[in-house]
Amino acid sequence: MQVPLLDFTQQYAGLKDEIVKEISDICDSQRFVLGEKVQKLEHEIAEYCGANYACGVTSGSDALIIALMVENIGAGDEVITTPFTFFATAGAISRVGATPVFVDIDPDTFNIDPVEIEKKITPNTKAIIPVHLFGQCCDMDAINAIAAKHDLIVIEDACQSIGAEYKGKRAGSVGDYGCFSFYPTKNLGCFGDGGMVTCKDEKKAEMLKIFRNHGQGSTYIHHYVGGNFRLDALQAAVLSIKLKELDGWSEARTQNAAEYNEMFAASKLGDKIQVPVVADFATRHIYNQYSILIKEGSRDELRSELMKRGVGSGVYYPLSLHQQDCFKDLGYKEGDMPVSEQASKEILSLPIFPESTTEQRKFVVESIENIMCD
Ligand SMILES: *Cc1c(COP(=O)(O)O)cnc(C)c1O
Repeated sequence: MQVPLLDFTQQYAGLKDEIVKEISDICDSQRFVLGEKVQKLEHEIAEYCGANYACGVTSGSDALIIALMVENIGAGDEVITTPFTFFATAGAISRVGATPVFVDIDPDTFNIDPVEIEKKITPNTKAIIPVHLFGQCCDMDAINAIAAKHDLIVIEDACQSIGAEYKGKRAGSVGDYGCFSFYPTKNLGCFGDGGMVTCKDEKKAEMLKIFRNHGQGSTYIHHYVGGNFRLDALQAAVLSIKLKELDGWSEARTQNAAEYNEMFAASKLGDKIQVPVVADFATRHIYNQYSILIKEGSRDELRSELMKRGVGSGVYYPLSLHQQDCFKDLGYKEGDMPVSEQASKEILSLPIFPESTTEQRKFVVESIENIMCD
């Protein structure tokens, strides 16, 4: 049996006719940049996320960058975030000239530990970027309370968490901004790169739209230095079609996760692994990844043994961001973020895509059991 980490061919097959027709219509119109397809998607995403406003952009990475730019965050400013995330979260902070300040994570959820945040606040701190990792929301009440007390902006990195909920509220509607990625491996993926910023404040939402088009107010009149962060009509159209299916896909992922949990509980693995822990406040986990910890033995050996048996897996992320070469100058050393460092050695993500089958999951769990227990 083959169990790929990801396979969206079945998903596409079901939508192919509708998508191909839509693409063909846009080609006929020869209108590719922004326009009504993008506006339509912005309304749909704002509504889906329970956010006041939304602005389509080129990628999740650019969503983070443009939110920081609109807040005028740059040289001399500090932005607090997690070291256990995709590089883009911290990369965006550096790209605008600010300094990423890392705070260790909660060992159960892998999300930023609010208790640690306050210790890292200085007079230069301007914002917090909590990352809703793997599809589970951070402890947003705690984070928003710290932000309110110290007058900080909260930018949710919801790139892995579209539709996830915190106490019933959707990711991207809880902080000042929400940043989304439509990279093909996310729960809502386009046919290339794409992203979205949601926003609470009307003025800031207008600024996002100005900044994504080189800070242009009216044609060729520039009030700010923005960038080209414009979303394509083709990507927006694909996303509008796929968005209608998103809740079904997320529901399937949740079901798949529950099946894995049961299978692992019934296995001989016991404490050798740890299945995902869902916090009480994370009322809807959308499982962009189903990530377990390998508590005994070698994660990397297990992974290559699984590969030999046809089971794909992923390591998100093998190195904490405070240990990356490019952040050497920030002065962190090994041991500074012990929880994140440990997680990067033990984490392993298993196939959870919506169309994966019970038989496939059985095979994955049995394979892990065979490798680790025999
Ligand atoms: C994917 C991702 C990003 C970046 O999104 P792109 O669309 O690939 O630029 C940022 N943060 C997190 C947590 C992500 O998973």
